[in-house]
Amino acid sequence: MNGLLAGKRGLIMGLANDKSIAWGIAKACADQGAELAFSYQGDALKKRVEPLIATINSDIMIECDVSSEESMDALFETLQQKWGKLDFVVHAIGFSDKSELRGRYVDTSAANFRMTMDISVYSFTAISRRAAAMMPEGGSLLTLTYYGAEKVMPHYNVMGIAKSALETSVKYIAEDLGRDGIRVNAISAGPIKTLAASGIGDFRYIMKWNELNSPLRRNITQEEVGKSALYLLSDLASGVTGECVHVDAGYHVVGMKAVDAPDI
Ligand code: NAD
Repeated sequence: MNGLLAGKRGLIMGLANDKSIAWGIAKACADQGAELAFSYQGDALKKRVEPLIATINSDIMIECDVSSEESMDALFETLQQKWGKLDFVVHAIGFSDKSELRGRYVDTSAANFRMTMDISVYSFTAISRRAAAMMPEGGSLLTLTYYGAEKVMPHYNVMGIAKSALETSVKYIAEDLGRDGIRVNAISAGPIKTLAASGIGDFRYIMKWNELNSPLRRNITQEEVGKSALYLLSDLASGVTGECVHVDAGYHVVGMKAVDAPDI
């Protein structure tokens, strides 16, 4: 199928480099005809993002730190001036102090708990509200979550609590914005080696475990997340909202170690 997003304009948030999940989604959207704008966090990332997005014929880059209301306002003011309206937003943003992505969850500090919730959860609500104001004919909002929201995963700690809250936010925002034709969904991605993931303790072990024990007996790619995102962002999913789609090689249905999995 071609041109699934032809004539649509979308904002992609959370592109750090070519390993980012946001990049897998951006490539899939551009391939299907979407016109894309990107937000990035800070000058260090600007240098990486600029040449990347040029390869998919985009040159709209706007700085945005989602821990700042003013920065989010400025992002949407710029988009309003450039485009007037918006069809979709991808929120691929999460952050926690990596010194607390190891050890015990119970030792999480109040400051890091609040920061993690602010950046990884509240920002999706704040962005959804601003994006909805630019979607008079409806639209689609998408965020990224992880299985650590549903079950305890080693070292995921406060991010697990944040992802649970994010998944519940998706449901509440879907109810709030559904009457305006705006759909709100999440993808729960299996582990992928990215900058953010490298902060999680023993991440290689988690990837290996997933590979050996998921029904597909492998890990997933950012391109596979991109394809599922395309479904949720396009009219193919016109009847789908408040949903969390697992793109994890089926790992979430498994109850125990596979009989053929070797010890690691
Ligand atoms: P990544 O490091 O490529 O992307 C994370 C992005 O968050 C970066 O672009 C970073 O700049 C941005 N960010 C952090 N704090 C920010 C702030 N204050 N303001 C604006 N942007 C900020 O890593 P990724 O793995 O592609 O992460 C994207 C999303 O996918 C995250 O929500 C992550 O939790 C989720 N996820 C990742 C995996 C995985 O295994 N990699 C699995 C499931 C879900």
